[in-house]
Amino acid sequence: MTADNIRFETLAVHAAEPRPAHGRSVVFPIYQGTVYEIEPGGGVDYLRYSNTPTQGYVQEKLAALEGAEAAVATASGMAAISTALASVLASGDRVIVAGNIYGGTHALLAEESRRIGWGVDFVDADDPAAWAAALTPATKAVYVESITNPLVRVGDLAGLARFSREHGLTSIIDNTFTTPMLFRPHTIGYDLVCHSATKALNGHSDLVAGVVTGSAERIERVRHFLMLYGGSLDPHAAFLLSRGLKTLAIRVRVQGENALALARFLEGHRAVAEVHHPGLESHPDHARAAALFGGFGSMLAFRPAGGLEAAERLLKSLRIPYSAASLGGVESLVTRPAISSHAKLTAEEREAAGIGDDLIRFSTGIEAAEDLIADFDRALED
Ligand code: PLP
Repeated sequence: MTADNIRFETLAVHAAEPRPAHGRSVVFPIYQGTVYEIEPGGGVDYLRYSNTPTQGYVQEKLAALEGAEAAVATASGMAAISTALASVLASGDRVIVAGNIYGGTHALLAEESRRIGWGVDFVDADDPAAWAAALTPATKAVYVESITNPLVRVGDLAGLARFSREHGLTSIIDNTFTTPMLFRPHTIGYDLVCHSATKALNGHSDLVAGVVTGSAERIERVRHFLMLYGGSLDPHAAFLLSRGLKTLAIRVRVQGENALALARFLEGHRAVAEVHHPGLESHPDHARAAALFGGFGSMLAFRPAGGLEAAERLLKSLRIPYSAASLGGVESLVTRPAISSHAKLTAEEREAAGIGDDLIRFSTGIEAAEDLIADFDRALED
């Protein structure tokens, strides 16, 4: 079953499920074993090599959802990203990084990369002249995120993939914020797609995992580095992830509907100064997101009219969302990026990036939109 002949909703449930069912169980079993008998002429199947049955099953499902030839599951999103980069970059090579990126990836590329010997050129994701200016003979890859955190910007993703191809680079994209339900980057030419599966792919805030998808050849190289660095996914987590994947389509659809309804409500509220969500016509990347994606995602950010004091009052007053970092789960989460994801930046750096102390980020869950709106309506009046 592949993405070519079947809709995403059906694929999420049925892709990679063996027919007839394994032991007649409609749920794929957890093979917790680490070692497997070697068949005559066969290779070694070993948990750290990511080639045991439950790992293989979840990897096949993830590849099908991204419309990729192959996938390798990892112990975290950061394991996916660092191993994908390691599979492409040697010491002395350079990578062009477009737009804002997740803090952990930023720390890897801005700090740790110096020890590893990778050169990193940070550029505007909307400025092809800057990409061209950053290009050197040592440049081997382009790295970008599909939607940025927390201002939910969408860079020129199609242009970057084209640029990468034209210059023989490997294009890598973090598709965590969109999920393959809304956007399949391989279809516009990305070579490697990474996810923090900890977020919407699993969707239940109860495991840490990641995945890289791509051609069989590229994924074999990623798997090779994963074997060396030791970041394979535990089978029990793989089982939980496969369970989450089956409901990905309905979760992401409802989360997106809720996020847009809440964003529209907040945009019309007199106690709210600004709202960021790509589904809003006022968002600078609305047209691009509408053209590229099958929906606008579950993330939004806003500033209350009364500054930091109003933001803190609101966070204390909200009853439904948890005050917590992370995103993509069935439960709504609310944070101030200034004290969570972007705490390491100076106040000036944050202000320059448009992330004021009063900016609130919201990861929308699958609760009833009416209840979320009512909670905000009450809390904004408090
Ligand atoms: N990529 C993005 C966009 C993220 O938001 C995160 C975590 O917040 C990661 C990668 C890292 O994922 P993990 O925590 O699963 O390693």
